Amino acid sequence: MNRHYDLIAIGGGSGGLSVAERAARYGAKTAVVERGRLGGTCVNVGCVPKKVMWFGASIAHTLHDAASYGFHIGEQSFDWARLKTARDDYVHGINDWYHTYLADSDIAELTGEARFVDARTIEVAGEQYTADHIVIAPGGAPMVPDTEGAELGITSDGFFELEQLPRRVAVVGSGYIAVELAGMLNALGSDVTMLLRREHLLRTFDAMLRENLTEEMFGDGIDILARTQVRRVSREDNGSLCIESENGQRLEGFDELIWAIGRYPLTANLNLPACGVGTDEHGYIPTDKFQQTNVEGIYAIGDVTGRAQLTPIAIAAGRRLSDRLFGGMEDRYLSYDNIATVVFSHPPIGTVGLTESVARDRHGDSVKVYQTRFTAMYNALTGRKQKTAMKLVTVGAQEKVVGCHVIGPGADEMLQGFAVAIRMGATKKDLDDTVAIHPTSSEELVTMK
Ligand code: FAD
Ligand code: NDP
Repeated sequence: MNRHYDLIAIGGGSGGLSVAERAARYGAKTAVVERGRLGGTCVNVGCVPKKVMWFGASIAHTLHDAASYGFHIGEQSFDWARLKTARDDYVHGINDWYHTYLADSDIAELTGEARFVDARTIEVAGEQYTADHIVIAPGGAPMVPDTEGAELGITSDGFFELEQLPRRVAVVGSGYIAVELAGMLNALGSDVTMLLRREHLLRTFDAMLRENLTEEMFGDGIDILARTQVRRVSREDNGSLCIESENGQRLEGFDELIWAIGRYPLTANLNLPACGVGTDEHGYIPTDKFQQTNVEGIYAIGDVTGRAQLTPIAIAAGRRLSDRLFGGMEDRYLSYDNIATVVFSHPPIGTVGLTESVARDRHGDSVKVYQTRFTAMYNALTGRKQKTAMKLVTVGAQEKVVGCHVIGPGADEMLQGFAVAIRMGATKKDLDDTVAIHPTSSEELVTMK
């Protein structure tokens, strides 16, 4: 067996699969190493099962609103186990599809944990393989704090293993995962308390987004405790969890505690000293704009680089890298500017470009902001008066749009097209000159005064 490849990707997740697939399409001899399930975080314990749960939670909200539209719905029940089984089956189907896809694409699948032997050689399950180009794409894993009793909690990985809906849950953290899991669990029937160590959730997002989301989450019955750092977790005699905070609070009666406090890169087991690739103090692998590490022929893509930890980023970086290495596109690289992203909260958030505060720091008085807040037509009839809020951040006399932020039903599907416009340099006048689609919420983005 020839064990030399043009390209080996370490990690069969969003990044590794994409770089290999594009390289193979150019005719490169390619292999992917995966120690777990193909598809990586996104497919197995991230975007995909999360979105299934989000759909389930959205149905729960719709059922709640149904009576306002004249539906008489009898006694309701929710079968967590059925949803979990259907979700897991769907994910396993994607895993299987990837095995077939790799075989059909002539990409070798190496099963096991990869570690470097030298800058051109890796070892997997006791066998050595060499490559001209090695792409490091091992992603990351959820962090658990160094807090007494922390092991009594679970992470997002554990959330996807839950066999039943927890009755009472504490979600510690304030980022994407905390907000998303808290919203889903609450909609599906759990009693949810969020513990933020600082003042706000989604601290780095535009203030309008986080203020509106906080209000909606409170309105939906989620308890949000700001400035509450966990000091100790313990199990009570009755089996429930008790949380003590640094500010002296004692919170009792939780079935589960979910740590959602960020992720760390999976670089520790790669034996990086053998190849000379450097990491920063958090273990992330720095690269230049071409995804090149400090060692020639070794690249890093996706979450392991610590930049914009999103699936489409890992995919885009991988594809562009193979375009450059095998497709003759010497200058091809991924720009990390103007990346649109959605938080699958209830309601969802869609956001692209600069927040108002970053824009003002960078561009001072030349920033002009347009915003609106309204009750979407869907909510005109419902008892629950969810608000939709939108903000456009513009710069200069031309009012170039540098930020677009939306929270409200449909925001998740709304932003992609606006992201294209912003990438192309759209001005406020371009939006104003675009004829609206009526009646929608998104029409407000082209009619804002
Ligand atoms: P991964 O997808 O993590 O893949 C890395 C793979 O490498 C893994 O399969 C791992 O087993 C393997 N591996 C690790 N070390 C080795 C080794 N030494 N040898 C062999 N294999 C190894 N992003 C979005 O864009 N939208 C979302 O809605 C979204 N939701 C998310 C929800 C959750 C709960 C989480 C946790 C993440 C979510 N993300 C989302 C982020 C997204 O999943 C990641 O950004 C993306 O998966 C990163 O891709 P990657 O290729 O860098 O790593
Ligand atoms: P995030 O980085 O988004 O948020 C974690 C937050 O938790 C920190 O910003 C911090 O906020 C807070 N925190 C950190 N340490 C502690 C601590 N010890 N105690 C309490 N709070 C703490 O990480 P997530 O885990 O939510 O998600 C990881 C990444 O996965 C995201 O950044 C995103 O890139 C990706 N993702 C994307 C999704 C999507 O696209 N929809 C969905 C889910 C994940 P503060 O400093 O304000 O306290």
